[in-house]
Amino acid sequence: MKELLFTKIEFLHFDLVIPFICRQCGTCCRTYTPMMSAEDLEVIARYLKIPENELFSRHEEYRLRYIAGHPLPCPFNEEKRCLIYRHPLRPDVCRLFPFSFGRPKIRGCPGYDEHARMVDAFLAGEKDFEIYDSSFCPAPSRRRSPETEWGRLRLALTRAGPSRLAVRHFIRMNDLPASFLERKKGFRRHSFPSSTSLHEEKV
Ligand code: SF4
Ligand code: SF4
Repeated sequence: MKELLFTKIEFLHFDLVIPFICRQCGTCCRTYTPMMSAEDLEVIARYLKIPENELFSRHEEYRLRYIAGHPLPCPFNEEKRCLIYRHPLRPDVCRLFPFSFGRPKIRGCPGYDEHARMVDAFLAGEKDFEIYDSSFCPAPSRRRSPETEWGRLRLALTRAGPSRLAVRHFIRMNDLPASFLERKKGFRRHSFPSSTSLHEEKV
């Protein structure tokens, strides 16, 4: 399975990993044109079998429109698919979106809205923590949360109102047992709305 993007919160005695689930809405690719070097565009033009000059001028025009605040869909987005999705030159800014943009700048990404709600719910009232996301996480290891914390974590998760898919990935990424979801006071398994299935590719 493709590794999901995430935010990692390091508390004093354990870590929490909050998954980011892309909703495949396509908003990001409909409103963004990544910056690319002339060398990369040359390679991509060959890969897509289109004339270099055509790709250069289209990319420049779209990029200028993006900078001017009147974005067109990315020139590599065709019928809601990224034509270079599997190419090694697909820019990191796309691979790491939305984390490549920095929190205050992310607009119109429903996956990020859910993600931010979860992060905020787990941080509420906390003072001692470090926080990283997929764009820079220095320590891939994860310290499991102790069972004594699970009640508190369950309540925070419920408060955030994540989809069932996000809950499933939250449990997997934090190495939690199925019993984490056992019905307890203040927590109901059915309180999570269903969601779209997870696809590997963005639209
Ligand atoms: S990253 Fe966000 S904006 Fe882009 S397709 Fe996924 S949910 Fe939509
Ligand atoms: S993921 Fe592909 S279509 Fe979307 S902005 Fe990046 S290069 Fe363009």
